[in-house]
Amino acid sequence: MIETLRVVVWNEYRHEREDARFAAVYPKGIHAAIAEGLTGPRDLIIETATLDEPEHGLTAQRLAETDVLIWWGHKAHGEVADEVAARVQQRVLDGMGLIVLHSGHFSKVFKRLMGTSCDLKWRVGHDRERLWVVNPGHPIAAGIGERFALEQEEMYGEHFDIPAPDELVFISWFTGGEVFRSGCCFYRGAGKVFYFRPGHESFPTYYDPTVRRVLVNAVRWAAPSGGPQRTFGNAKPLEAIAP
Ligand code: ZN
Repeated sequence: MIETLRVVVWNEYRHEREDARFAAVYPKGIHAAIAEGLTGPRDLIIETATLDEPEHGLTAQRLAETDVLIWWGHKAHGEVADEVAARVQQRVLDGMGLIVLHSGHFSKVFKRLMGTSCDLKWRVGHDRERLWVVNPGHPIAAGIGERFALEQEEMYGEHFDIPAPDELVFISWFTGGEVFRSGCCFYRGAGKVFYFRPGHESFPTYYDPTVRRVLVNAVRWAAPSGGPQRTFGNAKPLEAIAP
């Protein structure tokens, strides 16, 4: 029997429903394209959830049964209930993996876990993005090659106001000359967080085979490690302590 990982792809799902330009790129929503990119490996069980579902599709029970949550949001970060954002944060601290994509840098969930503004420079133009692997031994870089390019993407530039990542996997270069830390790993409590930059709503980024490979790798990296249950508070000594 193979060990399975339960993955939920969460999407705000507003741009694609409200604007024909984005619906043309992602007719079933960005979440559907991300989920499609994760199907194939038999050990991954993929589901989706969206903002307008009750409790944004992220009930306590659903989260308790989720190994890795993927998050895409942009224009409606403020509509995510504080209670649900706090619930996701707590699940990460308890060991759930979280992959935050692109404009999710400004989500309540990511900001809570980072503790900084998470602000950055941006430009929607005609930039090409080149992503360099800067940590070739990292599992998220498996099978990627030393670099890959996306012919059109939104530019995100430094300074990216995040805590120094525990591990940095990718740095992006853009045609306009900017650079950006575009693949960042963080450990929070018993959980792992991966921020991955590409994925603007008007570009077909989530169909790109290399991007899909990165996301499959990231799901495996972020999955709960099976480490010890954390305990806190007053503790009895393990050995006799002389008075
Ligand atoms: Zn964007």
